[in-house]
Amino acid sequence: MARSFVAEARRRGLGTRKQRIGPIIAGLAEAHSDAEIALHFGSDVELLISVMLSAQTTDVNVNRVTERLFVKYRTPEDYLAVQSEELEQDIFQTGFYRQKTKSIRGAMRMLIEEFDGKVPRRLDELQRLPGVARKTANVVAAELGHAQGVVVDTHVRRLSQRLGLTRNEDPVKIERDLQRVVPRADWARFPHLLIWHGRRICDARRPLCEDCVLADLCPAARVYF
Ligand code: SF4
Repeated sequence: MARSFVAEARRRGLGTRKQRIGPIIAGLAEAHSDAEIALHFGSDVELLISVMLSAQTTDVNVNRVTERLFVKYRTPEDYLAVQSEELEQDIFQTGFYRQKTKSIRGAMRMLIEEFDGKVPRRLDELQRLPGVARKTANVVAAELGHAQGVVVDTHVRRLSQRLGLTRNEDPVKIERDLQRVVPRADWARFPHLLIWHGRRICDARRPLCEDCVLADLCPAARVYF
């Protein structure tokens, strides 16, 4: 069980989650005005494919693969027009290529058969696509301007815990905690802000608390990890 900083925030007199969330978002937005999705895509379908490929690998790696992939595959039909083995080869470098190929082809088939070839906006519809779990659905929906939840990845989990916004470990429960405290208008950008802050400042092992704009709001500031 990770250390809970919810009680620590109270002990340090930093204010409640609801009192701190506004200044936290404002501080992060100022520090990371460039925070946005790191995946490269030019259409809704390319966004969906990129997010599906990003499981268990880096965005940089996905971008390297999709640079060529999206020249060869332009429509959902294109992913079904080749043999599975060919698509496997084309996405091999993203890892778990067999499972990803199966998921992508299944998702493209469902897009064609049930959604007129278009990527749906609703979370429940996105989650019906083969290989699309809640996190992928949340990323896609938010990026398409229809955030219905808060994306929880490893950075979002770590920073939410350190900032005392949740005491939970389970991503579903963390998301529920964040939905209660983060204003709905910020559901799409909040995860990006945490992800970029996690990459640049609040490293898992060596957080740079001295350089952090949230130091006065954070119950984990200057705690040894
Ligand atoms: S003060 Fe330290 S622990 Fe808190 S968010 Fe900033 S870097 Fe992370």
